[in-house]
Amino acid sequence: MKPQGFRDTGRFVHRPARPGICTPTNLAHLTRCLSHDANIALPVRPRGAGTAVTDCSVSTSGTVIDMTRFDRIIHIDTHEQTVTAEAGVRLGALVAALAAKDLELVGSFDQTERTLGGALAAPCMGPGIGDHTSFLSAQVIGMKLVTAGGKVMRVSETQKHLLGAMRLSYGMLGVIYEVTLRVRSISTFSANHRSMNIETFAQVCDRLASGNVGLKFYLLPYRDQVYLDLRHYENSQHSTFPIPWRIKNWGESTVLPNVFKSLNRVLPIPSVRYRLIDSISAATHGLVNSRLVRNGNNVTASGQRRRRKSRGLLYSTWCFPASDFSLVVKAYANFCQETFLRTTYRCDMPAVGHRIARDCSALLSPSFDEPLIALQSVSTQRRGWDGFVLDLSEFAENWGGIPLFNQTLATRADYVSQTYAGRMELFRKIRRQLDPRKRLLNPFLARHFE
Ligand SMILES: Cc1cc2nc3c(=O)[nH]c(=O)nc-3n(C[C@H](O)[C@H](O)[C@H](O)COP(=O)(O)OP(=O)(O)OC[C@H]3O[C@@H](n4cnc5c(N)ncnc54)[C@H](O)[C@@H]3O)c2cc1C
Repeated sequence: MKPQGFRDTGRFVHRPARPGICTPTNLAHLTRCLSHDANIALPVRPRGAGTAVTDCSVSTSGTVIDMTRFDRIIHIDTHEQTVTAEAGVRLGALVAALAAKDLELVGSFDQTERTLGGALAAPCMGPGIGDHTSFLSAQVIGMKLVTAGGKVMRVSETQKHLLGAMRLSYGMLGVIYEVTLRVRSISTFSANHRSMNIETFAQVCDRLASGNVGLKFYLLPYRDQVYLDLRHYENSQHSTFPIPWRIKNWGESTVLPNVFKSLNRVLPIPSVRYRLIDSISAATHGLVNSRLVRNGNNVTASGQRRRRKSRGLLYSTWCFPASDFSLVVKAYANFCQETFLRTTYRCDMPAVGHRIARDCSALLSPSFDEPLIALQSVSTQRRGWDGFVLDLSEFAENWGGIPLFNQTLATRADYVSQTYAGRMELFRKIRRQLDPRKRLLNPFLARHFE
């Protein structure tokens, strides 16, 4: 607003707000950032740990609201088995605080550096055992957020449809600052490991994908090998040891990427390099999975350590109907081999997959209609990656793949609308009501949700 009584001499100019980052430390600060008269550059995008691979948490010409300073665990109710925490709390810190009271998250989620807000506003998925354990967002029973206009809004379990829209809303309906989640007593599962070729995996995967089993696997398409990690609940409580899980997580997510990055630098002949890389992957998975880890719980499996440096891994995830996966997995192996012959690009890390149970607790749930298998292609090699993800996207579309707005690269807007169908239209209506001026919509999300 221009102050009254000032003559416009041209000496004072109103500068447009500059793009930047706003790091609110309390609710008053957050509401000020979002209020209509705040002089901040638009659009506004909330960000947690920033581990999403797409531009869903980016605002190059506007303002990013960094929520990591909202990091208090407010209350753990051991009787009701709930936890209330701020949105910037890291999953690792939450897992540790719950474990101290013999509680755990419902579901097994790694990437413990991500924030609670990011893990609820975007799919945070893991190889859960049974139903309602694949997405962390399914456990939300209450949420507090600040809307695009700077107003505080509370959503509880009694507002079932609104809460369903808020889960996996990618920060388009407001910035979440506090959440209440259902948690549970620590439960032990047994972890069985098998290795097999892709044909044998294809024969058994129908059975595994529909059963009451937590399924995770590592796929080496150029070596025709699959390493399975199958989890079942145990009737009796055994002691579980965190050290083997720590070694496993460290081997898979730190040692392998670092070794492969070095080999990519020092070994110029692809055939020699890749043979060695695949042998190291096979040896690591064979050793850490089958020999070290026999049982666990969601605390030991997630790990509580917070990663300080980003792993620098490239990844893109597509989900496929579990009922088709016996065919998809063979087609994926052929696709990888054919792409390598044609382009000389291949992923050096094993692809990682897990079963996702059907879940209609969120309007934008990828498994709203049926159980899925999430398949994540992972690599440390940047050169050639962009072409690979384009080819992967074409492959996935042909096989009915379902993309995720935070984890899938190179998607086509038409195809995305088709896969999320009527639910996308309903979400757009809710979004337009809560944010008519599109303050929370960046160009990436506008492609899908305008
Ligand atoms: C190597 C690697 C492997 C991965 N593997 C998996 C995997 O196996 N399974 C899996 O599920 N994910 C995986 N991810 C993806 C990633 O962990 C998820 O995207 C995560 O849930 C995002 O959490 P974040 O805190 O980093 O959120 P960000 O990436 O910062 O944000 C994600 C989305 O949530 C929104 N958001 C963030 N905070 C808030 C808030 N407070 N209020 C409203 N909206 C908000 C953002 O605007 C954005 O749209 C992987 C990531 C990496 C880097």
